[in-house]
Amino acid sequence: MEGKIVQVHQHPDSGDISKITLDNGAELEADFFLDCSGFQSLLLSKTLNTDFIDWSHWLPCNRAIAVPTVSNGPPLPYTKATAHSAGWQWRIPLQHRTGNGHVYSSNYMSDDEALAILRKNLDGEELAEPRQLSFTAGRRRNTWVKNCVGVGLASGFLEPLESTSIYLIQLAIMKLMEFFPRMGDNRVRRDEFNRQMDLEYERIKDFLILHYHATRRDDSPFWNYCRTMSVPESLHESMTAFRRTGYLKAYKSGLFMVPSWVAVLIGQGVIPESWHPAANEWDAGTLHTNIQQLKQQMKTAVDKLPDHLSAVQQHCAAVDTNNAEPWPKAAMSLYSVFS
Ligand SMILES: Cc1cc2nc3c(=O)[nH]c(=O)nc-3n(C[C@H](O)[C@H](O)[C@H](O)COP(=O)(O)OP(=O)(O)OC[C@H]3O[C@@H](n4cnc5c(N)ncnc54)[C@H](O)[C@@H]3O)c2cc1C
Repeated sequence: MEGKIVQVHQHPDSGDISKITLDNGAELEADFFLDCSGFQSLLLSKTLNTDFIDWSHWLPCNRAIAVPTVSNGPPLPYTKATAHSAGWQWRIPLQHRTGNGHVYSSNYMSDDEALAILRKNLDGEELAEPRQLSFTAGRRRNTWVKNCVGVGLASGFLEPLESTSIYLIQLAIMKLMEFFPRMGDNRVRRDEFNRQMDLEYERIKDFLILHYHATRRDDSPFWNYCRTMSVPESLHESMTAFRRTGYLKAYKSGLFMVPSWVAVLIGQGVIPESWHPAANEWDAGTLHTNIQQLKQQMKTAVDKLPDHLSAVQQHCAAVDTNNAEPWPKAAMSLYSVFS
């Protein structure tokens, strides 16, 4: 049932949400509610007063301007993120257009300047008017409160540098399935759900902060702030352990695994001062030969792969709306895996 929520009601004793009222007067009662109202966070924040943990001192970007452009040539197989003086610009190749955006901190750059920088760095004709978004990095203290779970922006927002929002939405759905509430006391399920969601948010947060903090740039007040700011203890420990010994904690749950951390750390010049003692068992020549062999094996495997455009067309070509099949091929092949 679609409609605008105009009022949220709570049980007088427990504080649980009891029903919502829509603008057409309909009243909808339920045992359990999902808050998917985006930044409004109508149930979780505005009704249940879950406070917001603000991370903007670590992730100072709070604005984005997005604009689609015409695709020029075959799509690159990756998203390009280019640093600017108070943030960064994304360039996402899609099948029928290119997505672009400039993410920046309004404390260090005006909206007009941000738009001018974005436009100067586009490589195709604009397809629509640029759209501006504002946000604050952070999350609600708990994702599940009383009889309500926040999904998506209603529960938090981390800036788009690693495109993690839809992952966190999917994760909340999967965790909700795992810890699905029963009638009665759900405290153990709720606490474990919240613990696991918190952990994911915290790990993504640290990984995002790393991108900014590990910079070597010293050519603008924004980057000087990011390079010299104090970071969360957990990130400080990870960076110190890596710098001293090359060690990174491998965790089972969490989006970014060791190779992602290595790419950002080494890519930004954080090079370990020593290595795992097991490597001392090998002489330098043998190690070098083994690494060269590994590199060659990777190159041989990659050379056999189709180029990006052919792979996309073969596995997940955009649906032709004039001659649409009910599901794109990729969705069907995923379905057949589960059925
Ligand atoms: C340009 C751009 C690029 C992005 N790229 C990526 C990406 O590559 N990867 C990624 O993971 N994420 C990306 N995101 C982020 C992702 O799209 C969003 O995080 C996600 O769509 C948020 O979904 P949501 O349902 O939480 O919130 P929303 O999409 O904001 O939905 C909230 C809904 O609640 C409704 N609502 C609000 N108040 C009421 C009310 N009173 N009554 C009824 N309904 C109400 C609103 O109308 C809205 O439909 C991108 C976002 C943008 C803008």
